[in-house]
Amino acid sequence: MPQAAPWHDGWLAHARRCESPNAGPRPDATAVELVLVHSISLPPGEYGGDAIERLFTNRLDWDAHPYYQQIRGIEVSAHFLVRRDGGLLQFVSCDARAWHAGASCWRGRHDCNDYSIGIELEGLEGERFEAVQYDALATLIAHLRARYPITAVAGHEHVAPGRKRDPGAGFDWARLQALTHLPARYFPEGILDPG
Ligand SMILES: [Zn+2]
Repeated sequence: MPQAAPWHDGWLAHARRCESPNAGPRPDATAVELVLVHSISLPPGEYGGDAIERLFTNRLDWDAHPYYQQIRGIEVSAHFLVRRDGGLLQFVSCDARAWHAGASCWRGRHDCNDYSIGIELEGLEGERFEAVQYDALATLIAHLRARYPITAVAGHEHVAPGRKRDPGAGFDWARLQALTHLPARYFPEGILDPG
């Protein structure tokens, strides 16, 4: 039986669309090969509010919390956000370039924003994530692989070591591998080994 088309251009049909202006075209003829996993919560450690979507759409009130002074004025985005309850939001078409990686390098290839999909998990770096978030992430990766030639899944910490630490030690890469059925070569070297 044919299924309902999961994609409309670069937008996933079952994600809630919340379009961000913080995006641009990918370089010509760029294969989208990398899934980049991040974590974010605003304010840090507080879940369920609308501050993340406000940040990614340049509508955050910088004076609403003391922490926001540290990020005042930044213009960032990701393609997706997976909330603590597994809810999925999309901010940027996957055909476009979102602003999530910054200075970064994966297996010798610089500027990961050019060729990656950025997925934020609502959470605190170093802390644990919810089972439904892994399920939603694995489903999302399956949809991405049906449309883009994904060859790798990594964390922000792996493409910007020393500068970024998300999603951090609380993220269970072995669990993600099991749910996605991806070979170990898709993941950063060493992270699937316990300890
Ligand atoms: Zn990040």
